[in-house]
Amino acid sequence: MTCPKCQGVPKRTETRYGLRLDCCGLWAWGEHPLADAATHDARKKAHAAFDPIWRDGHMSRGKAYKMLAEEMGLSRDDCHMKLMTAEQASLVPDIATKIKEKLK
Ligand SMILES: [Zn+2]
Repeated sequence: MTCPKCQGVPKRTETRYGLRLDCCGLWAWGEHPLADAATHDARKKAHAAFDPIWRDGHMSRGKAYKMLAEEMGLSRDDCHMKLMTAEQASLVPDIATKIKEKLK
């Protein structure tokens, strides 16, 4: 994994939450692409809006992600919060609301 800004090798830190990679003000948890604070924040909000759909037992996690992928025009394999840009992740809360509406 290299830093998308400087193409350098990020600093690796073992924290109690697992491996953290840091470089140029970007970071990642585990071996994932480094992202800036805005992206991490958008992904966190995406998880908060979307995870209850499957966590509360409305549907399986797989089915929920399949619906999300369809709404976003992504293939199921590409539809992971940790791969989303800030722009993509910021769409998730509205889509989650739409999926929840369909469950009623
Ligand atoms: Zn860097």
